[in-house]
This record gives sequence, C-alpha cells and structure tokens, in this order.
Amino acid sequence: MSVIMLNVNPNRPDLSKIRLAAKAIKSGKLVVFPTETVYGIGANALDGKACMKIFRVKGRPQDNPLIVHVSSMEMAERIAEIPPKYRKQIMALWPGPLTLILKAKAGIPKEVTAGLPTVAVRFPSNLVALALIKAAGVPIAAPSANVSKRPSATEASHAASYFRKGVAYIIDSGISSFGIESTILDLSGFRILRPGAMTVEQISSAFMKRPILSPEATAKGVKGKPISPGMKYLHYSPEKPLLLFTGNRAELAKIFKRHGNDAAFIGSEESCMALGDLVKNKLVLGRRNDQRMAARNLFRYLIKLDSLDVNFGIAEAVPENGLGTAVMNRLRKASGNRECASAYEAERFIQKIKAPKMRHKAKSSH
Ligand code: AMP
Ligand code: MG
Repeated sequence: MSVIMLNVNPNRPDLSKIRLAAKAIKSGKLVVFPTETVYGIGANALDGKACMKIFRVKGRPQDNPLIVHVSSMEMAERIAEIPPKYRKQIMALWPGPLTLILKAKAGIPKEVTAGLPTVAVRFPSNLVALALIKAAGVPIAAPSANVSKRPSATEASHAASYFRKGVAYIIDSGISSFGIESTILDLSGFRILRPGAMTVEQISSAFMKRPILSPEATAKGVKGKPISPGMKYLHYSPEKPLLLFTGNRAELAKIFKRHGNDAAFIGSEESCMALGDLVKNKLVLGRRNDQRMAARNLFRYLIKLDSLDVNFGIAEAVPENGLGTAVMNRLRKASGNRECASAYEAERFIQKIKAPKMRHKAKSSH
C-alpha cells in the first residue's frame, strides 16, 4: 500500500489526524513523524515485530539500537531507570533534543536495545511528536527517517522520497526546527556519544559539570568496540562525494578557479560572497555566526547536492563550539573524512574522485 501524507499544523496538531497515525502505531505499523531535531520513523517500542520493520525499510544493521521516544517522565520510568541523583537536571533539559543512555527495565524488546542492558530514551519537545506518543499510549522507537547511510530527513518530502512503501503515514509539519539529531549522553560515564542539537554548554550548565566527548563523538574513527554501536557505521552521505575544507578563503578560491563548474559549494554567506562568480552552484548555509541556520540547512543541502549538475561538493568547516560541534561531526561523516586545508590537498582528493570516471571513459572508448 502506498504511503499516506498527513498535513498537521505544528503548533496546533489536528487530533483526528494524530489519532489515525496513533492507531497505525498501535497496530504494529510504521509512521514517519516530525520532532524538533529531524523526522523520525517510528514503531511501538514495546512491539519487537513492529520495530523489526524499521530495520527492514531503512536497511539498518540490526546491531544498531533504536532511540525510544516518550511523552512524560512517567513513561520514561516505565522503560528505564532514571538515576535519582540526576533527576532534577534531566527534568531541566527534558523535553528537548537530548537522548539519555539509561539502564533498561524488563520488557523492552531486544530489537530496540540490540541486546544491550541499556536503552536510549528521549522526551522530545515537538508538539506533534508528543501528541502522537500520547495518543498511541506507548513509547515510540524511532531512528531518523532516512535510508541507512543517507542524510537524515528534515522535511516530510525527504522521507517520502526515501520510503515509497512500508510506511503507513508520513506526518508533515514543515521543516525541522533544529535540523540535526539529538545529543546522546551516556549518564553512566557522563560522556557524549554523539554531539547534537543540545550543546555541550547547555549540558554542562544543567549538570554543573562538563561531559567528556567520547572518541566516537568526534567522528575521527574509533579503535575497538564502540560504546554506541551505530557510531561505527557510515552516515549522512550524499551519493556525490563530499570534501570538507578547513583552510582559508584564498585556498578555497584556488580550488574553485579550477573546479567551479564541476563542484558545488556548501558554506557561509560570507564565503559565498567572496567566491562570487567562481562557483556556479552555491548552497548557502547562512551567515557565518548563525549556527542554528547552518544546522537547519545542512541535511537539506546534502540531499540537494545529489540533484545538482556537478560531480562533487565542497563543504566549508564551521567553528567547533555550540551547535558547530554537531555540524562538524556530521560533515566529517558525510565526507568520509576527506578533510583538506589547502588547494593542493583538495586536488589529491579530486583526482581520486575523477579517476574512476576517467577509467570508465577510457574503457568505453575502446
Ligand atoms: P538514529 O536514531 O538513527 O539517529 O541513531 C540512534 C543512535 O543511538 C545510534 O547511533 C545508536 O548506536 C545509539 N544508541 C541507541 N541505543 C543505544 C544504547 N543503548 N547505547 C548506546 N548507544 C545507543
Ligand atoms: Mg540516523
């Protein structure tokens, strides 16, 4: 059966539509719904068979556990143990874009936890997400609404292009407010497993201590077994190759002098202005100091890159503080760590990107 779109007002969710979607969740079907971070693809978290469908339609490896969304503290306590010493701080940050790794209570299907003794729990603030969970009356397990490895969906239309079947409803409430996934905090070690929409600074100020940034949170590669299974996988990648550029504008201009017709630029308004006519395809993230806008536009542009008439993209690095930490984590993963600081370094990646095509051309000309 084809997917049904439901348009729902983000500020005053239409309850008749929410009930339809909640009924689908209760009967073991999948529903794509908005949260303040990105769109999620959800199933009843207490129904292992329903959760299995998420893995199937996303093509997600089964050892990658799911985040469970709740609509109240009571619901969180039904599935996980909230450490009493952190309760006050958690209540200060929830509802919000923060996922906590907590000890799981009995009865959570292994499909959700991937067999771990812990469960990832989030209490979102998005009104549509809250209305859906409340109406369903069960916690909803939901990873991001994208096919595995691809950029997360920040608009309902992205999810619609990823999932043409296998989903009962897609609830459309417009563009995601943050546009980047939740921060994952492992309370047992007080470490961030994935930087996200809640900043290190916000967490530090609520808990009065600074969390450690685990190696997997930097996306620079993890040796051995990661604490968060999902972090070892390729992520957020457009189909076209992406380079992450960390150098200055003079070097950037040198790259585009050579490849201006071949490459799209994803970067700040200021850099786009400086590059001027050197680049045909510019995807403007926003003003350099507007981290909120950069986060909101990031996945949208990674998805858009694939529809442009170019061979690759070059994304500009952003300062690594506030939301910038999460943006850089996604850019590193999306670029497969093709990081360069000069035109010379960039050229080495570009030649490699072009090499298979040239080989293909040589072959086909015989
Ligand atoms: P997604 O919802 O697709 O954005 O990804 C959810 C992330 O949460 C994955 O990277 C998982 O590895 C991580 N996660 C979920 N449950 C746990 C858990 N119990 N312990 C550690 N990480 C988890
Ligand atoms: Mg994801």
